[in-house]
Amino acid sequence: MGDGPAASPAHGGRWAWAEVDLDAVAHNVAVLCAAAAPAAVWAVVKADAYGHGAVAVARTAVAAGAAGLCVALVQEAAALRAAGVAANVLVLSEQPAAQAAEAVALGVVSTVASADGIDALAAAAAAAGQRHRVHLKVDTGMHRAGCAPADAVDLAARVAASGALQLDGVFTHLATADEPGHPDIDRQVGRFDTVLHELARAGLRPATVHTANSAAALTLPAARHQMVRVGIALYGLAPGPLLAPWCTDLRPAMSLHARISRVHRAPAGDGVSYGLRHRFARETTVATVPLGYADGVARRSFEVGAEVLVRGRRRPVVGVVTMDQLMVDAGDLPVAVGDPVVVFGTQAGEQLGADEVAARLGTIGYEVVCAVSARVPRRHVGGPLVESTA
Ligand SMILES: *Cc1c(COP(=O)(O)O)cnc(C)c1O
Repeated sequence: MGDGPAASPAHGGRWAWAEVDLDAVAHNVAVLCAAAAPAAVWAVVKADAYGHGAVAVARTAVAAGAAGLCVALVQEAAALRAAGVAANVLVLSEQPAAQAAEAVALGVVSTVASADGIDALAAAAAAAGQRHRVHLKVDTGMHRAGCAPADAVDLAARVAASGALQLDGVFTHLATADEPGHPDIDRQVGRFDTVLHELARAGLRPATVHTANSAAALTLPAARHQMVRVGIALYGLAPGPLLAPWCTDLRPAMSLHARISRVHRAPAGDGVSYGLRHRFARETTVATVPLGYADGVARRSFEVGAEVLVRGRRRPVVGVVTMDQLMVDAGDLPVAVGDPVVVFGTQAGEQLGADEVAARLGTIGYEVVCAVSARVPRRHVGGPLVESTA
């Protein structure tokens, strides 16, 4: 990973950064395309591509074979279009009626799940003199977004009757796909199959049927239909601990780095950080690392035994993580100001992945990478366009 961006004015010279390996993203897209074929892979780049940088990831994913992109918000689609990304973009949930005109203008594929949502988009499309493509989302048991299965036929017919809208797809989302064999997978798939059957009986056969997130795309061939909506696997992380065996070909794309900003010796018996909640059993070297909870490193990391990599070794985080800095017990390692520290990633062959950080914190890799906040510079390396955030 070279010297990092420490000397680069584009990164403000900050001694902390997230490296995003776009070659890893491209590799993961290729692996997922091969695994899901003949289903098309749509790359989920919501939440700034899970913190990886939506524009760079979107371009890389499309170049590597993704057929389209998925976002959560109209404003996320707008950011992609503003950067010149022309690919298909599906907005994954129904959005406020006030955003219908913008969705139409951006030429996204909108998700609909209510009569009001359909009417708002139909009116916006008619006003713009355009035909707007929509996918109907059905809630088959997660109880988050979508229409009731019993309403699907009426809503699909409403789309078809609107004139200004085109029903391109119908989909659902599985709540337990990251637990292979979970009985509710079959329950949701069964309800969805019933909806598809009822739509067909009413003469409604949307071309693009989809149910699969990363977990289902990897483990449930029957759930793939015409497309899969792949997020976390694109970034090289497992959808959950049980899916690690399916993810061995994937490469983590993000790593979190810093440089040591201060080194000093602390005597036995002294404590460290707010509340002095960790006391040193013996004299030791304390390394200060300029990353804190405002950067996305959990405040309670030290309570769960978090470690970082320094000089290729695992060393414990000591004391609560503060807003801007955390402290590491470097023992008697010969560390110096400016030495590279890896919070998650690899260093000198030693691996400490985001999934491991997540497991310690009792969460999932998604939350660890999404938590890396906007004030941490992203350094993109590799990729088909040798993309740079500079
Ligand atoms: C976020 C999201 C996905 C992607 O899920 P992963 O587990 O990251 O693959 C797919 N579909 C919907 C509806 C989502 O909200």
